[in-house]
Amino acid sequence: MEMIGHGGKEIIERVMSKDAALKRVAELKAAKVKTLDVRLQMATEIIDIAYGFFSPLEGFMTKADVESVCNNMTLADGKTVWSIPIIYDISSEDLEKSGIKQYDEVLLTYTGNPFAIFDIADIFTFDKKEVAMKVYGTTEEKHPGAKRTYQYQDKFLGGKITLLSPPKINEPFTRFWLTPKQMRERFKEKGWEMIINHQTRNVPHTGHEWLMKGAYLGAYGSMMVDKPRGGILVNAIIGSKRAGDYIDEAIILCQEAQGKYGYFREDTFLTTCSLWDMRYAGPREAIFHACLRTNLGCTHHMFGRDHAGVGSYYDPYDAHRIFDRLPKGSLNITPIFNLDWWFCPVCDEVTYMGFCGHKDKKASFSGTLIRSIIQDGVKPPRRIFRPEVFDMIMECAEKYGFGNAFVTEDYLKRRNPVFTIEPLK
Ligand SMILES: [Zn+2]
Repeated sequence: MEMIGHGGKEIIERVMSKDAALKRVAELKAAKVKTLDVRLQMATEIIDIAYGFFSPLEGFMTKADVESVCNNMTLADGKTVWSIPIIYDISSEDLEKSGIKQYDEVLLTYTGNPFAIFDIADIFTFDKKEVAMKVYGTTEEKHPGAKRTYQYQDKFLGGKITLLSPPKINEPFTRFWLTPKQMRERFKEKGWEMIINHQTRNVPHTGHEWLMKGAYLGAYGSMMVDKPRGGILVNAIIGSKRAGDYIDEAIILCQEAQGKYGYFREDTFLTTCSLWDMRYAGPREAIFHACLRTNLGCTHHMFGRDHAGVGSYYDPYDAHRIFDRLPKGSLNITPIFNLDWWFCPVCDEVTYMGFCGHKDKKASFSGTLIRSIIQDGVKPPRRIFRPEVFDMIMECAEKYGFGNAFVTEDYLKRRNPVFTIEPLK
């Protein structure tokens, strides 16, 4: 299978074998190289870089990349489309204390265990307000992406990353986390040539189900019944959570349930997850999702209403329009734009805004409505929620959510981590 990723280059994999890593760590320790312990936010992105989720990035961005991403939506090469800065921050005090200088090789640890090597190519600062404005279109701190930018410390390190110790992905995520190379192998096993990605951070109601079915029909046109040539990849985003989000465990297991219980044939449906902290950058995040899924080997990507948006920062279809502004051929994935699907009591089915003439009677699948259905815990009609999916939400709330299907402070404190880095041995 072809291993060409975003930007037309071979998928990056910067992961050392165990023997090489053990030897390297011993050498680094003997040479008393500088060490930094990274927090979860950085650890997540180090894993993404090392396995090629962010190909062609080989490390954290330098100042030239950050500026180019902000100003031109490309990497510093001026060609490769990239929409969100991938940055490593450090406080001035820690930087000074560590004595880290340009061109140093730094040993990164996570939860105290050797994790990665960081080759420092650049040490820099930038104006956070300017970055927030250019990437998120706002300087307001209540925008979660802008807030994350302001929370970065004041110095930044750019340079290549090499992973020393692969993450142990914990249950129930283990079977869902596939690296870009593994993902492509899986597609090959399934005989898929066209892969339509569905981006999600939700448990699926029938509105989502029909979004996917509509995209499938749109991408395929006519097809032979016995020869599926491709399928739908649900790639759930697992990462930093905000109170009120669905818990990660419910998202992934409920998505899988749609295939398990036959709402999609198993030979045309696959559920996986990727690690990413949503920035809610709307249109720019849509572009980022397109790059990420190109690296996973997808050929098509669905973009719905207000894709990756938050509040009223973006027009609901800005994330569609932005694709028109990219130079032709700069992305190697075909966007599929979804308009609104809703439940119509007159048609008595889930329907599409292009079909249903009872717009004033429609029942939109609003977040608030779905949330209240779930919080009541009373099984809704199967036209709204598949009963097996609904049962799985309830099961996950009990098993993983401390009684709640939505993120609470309690969940954030007590949940099992998605991944751990174990001692090298
Ligand atoms: Zn209707």
